[in-house]
Amino acid sequence: MVRVDYDKCLYCAGCVGVCPVDAITLYETRIEISDECINCQICIKFCPVGAMEE
Ligand code: SF4
Ligand code: SF4
Repeated sequence: MVRVDYDKCLYCAGCVGVCPVDAITLYETRIEISDECINCQICIKFCPVGAMEE
């Protein structure tokens, strides 16, 4: 399951756009990853600051 490191996250919303199943929702101060996640890890590779991790 993917987790967000909030010490690194810039809230750029980039990961929201790359998720193929729309599992990522960006709120003001947090990111929610739903059960729809298929663990493809595209968001982990995409995040410019490495804030997405397993
Ligand atoms: S792409 Fe990375 S920095 Fe941008 S909102 Fe997602 S987790 Fe945060
Ligand atoms: S691992 Fe894949 S399916 Fe899961 S949140 Fe990231 S991009 Fe979406």
